Amino acid sequence: MARYDYLIVGGGMTADAAARGIRERDTRGSIAIIGAERDPPYNRPPLTKGLWKGDALDSIWRKTDEVHVDLQLGRRVAALDAERKQVTDDQGTTYDYRTLLLATGGEPRTLPGAPDGIIYFRTLADYRRSRDLADRGRRFVVIGGGFIGSEIAAALRLQNCDVTMVLRDKGIGARIFPADLSTSLVEYYRTKGVTVHLGESVSKIARAADRRFVVDTGGAGRLEADAVIAGLGIAPATELAEQAGLPLDDGIVVDEELRAGRDGIYAAGDVARFHNPALGKRIRVEHEDNANTMGKIAGLNMAGAGLRYEHLPFFYSDLFDRGYEAVGDVDAGLETVADWKEPFKEGVVYYLERGRVRGVLLWNTWNQVDAARALIAEPGPFRPNQLKGRLPA
Ligand code: NAP
Repeated sequence: MARYDYLIVGGGMTADAAARGIRERDTRGSIAIIGAERDPPYNRPPLTKGLWKGDALDSIWRKTDEVHVDLQLGRRVAALDAERKQVTDDQGTTYDYRTLLLATGGEPRTLPGAPDGIIYFRTLADYRRSRDLADRGRRFVVIGGGFIGSEIAAALRLQNCDVTMVLRDKGIGARIFPADLSTSLVEYYRTKGVTVHLGESVSKIARAADRRFVVDTGGAGRLEADAVIAGLGIAPATELAEQAGLPLDDGIVVDEELRAGRDGIYAAGDVARFHNPALGKRIRVEHEDNANTMGKIAGLNMAGAGLRYEHLPFFYSDLFDRGYEAVGDVDAGLETVADWKEPFKEGVVYYLERGRVRGVLLWNTWNQVDAARALIAEPGPFRPNQLKGRLPA
């Protein structure tokens, strides 16, 4: 039986940030990270961005061992006993803890009934497989037009691969972008050589005798491909929290200091639902800035800091040579006010609810994240014409 002062379940960016947070306050306590992947913690964003544009694979490592952590990799925690303060992994090893962090992230959604071999893109192993196929000039079908779908389609096309996107929505990034921007992105992708099928659901995927995939959709018919990559969103990995009876609400509900309802248990990152004061509601955020900032605060608090997590995270993306940063509630279902310097190339979109700015999309507009946060904190109410020209500040 192993015993640790600080035990972190999950081996991603949140886990690394937490270990570093712990070490800022406690240089001696024992720390372990138990991670299901065989790779040590790494930066996830480059898997669909920088690594396809020439960044070296070595640049992604978080170097977590620098802060003296036992990395227990290739192990999945199967059981959590909150009374005994113990977890047990899938190889039967039991670990005692004093404080525990659940940084379990999420599992990619899959297509029911689909054959083996589809890449539900999330991990470095998925990148390695996709890269190998791309280097061999394979033909890809990409399902989903969210973050993974839009980024990986662009990345593959930059390698001159044949890429066909199949989207249920009417545009790329339709959940977050106003309809006209989402539609313009489809046109942009098409000019870059990506075939885009809109409003299509995949009804069946089969593998032919030569192992190629045959993807059946309604309108687009049968699409043949050497590889299928799907980005269908993630489901927060809450099984251990369920076992321990922690409060759940599409994720693990944490308080302002990231405690997850039982003595000595914290949660952070993609899996944690927290109250954000600026938005005045509980949110769950599946992006890098949140993983890093929340992970760090969780680690500091595990070591006794007692800090409140009040950060409003931002996120960003690169789509060929367009890019953006965004902060707050960037939801296409809200009222939007667009202020374009050049339509769909450079400008700012404000997302409003009852006259308050709830989110800001900074399209090819840089160094404005803090100004956007300040605007979101303002009580308003704003009329649309008051927002024109407001950012860049
Ligand atoms: P996502 O952005 O939530 O997009 C999921 C997409 O899959 C949506 O377009 C959705 O369409 C579609 N979809 C869901 N079920 C489907 C089905 N059965 N058939 C066809 N389409 C389906 O999730 P993601 O792209 O998979 O990304 C996974 C996670 O990685 C997210 O947490 C994301 O935030 C994170 N990530 C972030 C970044 C970034 O911050 N730049 C980059 C990569 C990944 P509907 O809208 O019709 O449901």
